[in-house]
Amino acid sequence: MRFERFNQDGNARRGQLVMSRGRVQTPAFMPVGTAATVKTMTPEELVAAGAEIILGNTFHLMLRPGAEVIRRHGGLHDFMHWERPVLTDSGGYQVWSLARLRKISEQGVTFQSPVDGDTVFLGPERAMDVQHQLDADIAMIFDDCTPYPATREQAQASMELSLRWAARCKDAHGDHQAALFGIVQGGMYPDLRRLSLAVLVDIGFDGYALGGLSVGEPKQMLYEMIEDLVPLLPDDRPRYLMGVGTPEDIVFAVSMGIDMFDCVLPTRNARNGWLYIQDSVIKLRNAQFAEDIRPPDPNCGCYTCQHYSRAYLRHLYRANEILGARLNTVHNVYYYLSLMAKIRSAIKLGRFSQFAEDFFAKRGIKPRPGSAVSGAI
Ligand SMILES: [Zn+2]
Repeated sequence: MRFERFNQDGNARRGQLVMSRGRVQTPAFMPVGTAATVKTMTPEELVAAGAEIILGNTFHLMLRPGAEVIRRHGGLHDFMHWERPVLTDSGGYQVWSLARLRKISEQGVTFQSPVDGDTVFLGPERAMDVQHQLDADIAMIFDDCTPYPATREQAQASMELSLRWAARCKDAHGDHQAALFGIVQGGMYPDLRRLSLAVLVDIGFDGYALGGLSVGEPKQMLYEMIEDLVPLLPDDRPRYLMGVGTPEDIVFAVSMGIDMFDCVLPTRNARNGWLYIQDSVIKLRNAQFAEDIRPPDPNCGCYTCQHYSRAYLRHLYRANEILGARLNTVHNVYYYLSLMAKIRSAIKLGRFSQFAEDFFAKRGIKPRPGSAVSGAI
């Protein structure tokens, strides 16, 4: 993987990741395809929405259908009929958030599979092996996700374990062609996070991610952590903010210099009848949309907005029709990917700070005193 940078506007950066399966323009949003599917969408629909990379998940795929089945397909791309790049999460976060009866040791984590109750082991070497079998274009290190809240001692022990695992992941990855990203941990303790970052840079990775954020901490804390850490991330490597976030979070993080995002919000919220529009959200359960024959967003170019009304989508939602989830997802993913395209265009034209200011002003979000970014909460 090669990372090329084209423009910088303030701290916001525009560039691209060049990989054998295609180019990814940054800042990029990666729709989440946890179980080898971005829920309800075909790969053709994802391409039409502008997706250049998607995210897959080690934890889910190793448990079901198993890495071996996917390896027989020659990897995740053939298995799910997606030809563009894939980033795979290592499973560290999912072991922490989904597995029962977790037992953490220096070697890795033993847990009970939520799929069939089997006892399963996942550690740095196994996580790398599975990601190689999935044939990921970008693999993530296997880390220990620090809970929130955590004491300083807990956060430090977890962060240090993650660093020892990071070194083992790098060894296990060897000279495999996939890019390998390190993940900064350290809970909500800035000095621990700075230490984690410094050691990861010392080990040396193709890109760096901020992990263990958006885990229930106040928004203010998330934003301060981003402000504190991003300037310390290597300039010449892609920077990935894992699992974040709302459109507002993304615009803020881009303004600080983040290049890559993933989040379940557009797809999950679509299934819950939430549609992202220009500067707010439509909740289809609200009675006000029962006779609203306008498209969800008159300015949106997606398939859903070209053909369907708010009243129809509300009807599908209330009748629990599968098509409703599909049409809502098509719109929300298009919204997120269009937002990224607008962000890239604003950076290219040197008017990103104006873009961000307008974006927050339209949402009624006031500038935070002392913020590096005008308009951020
Ligand atoms: Zn639309």
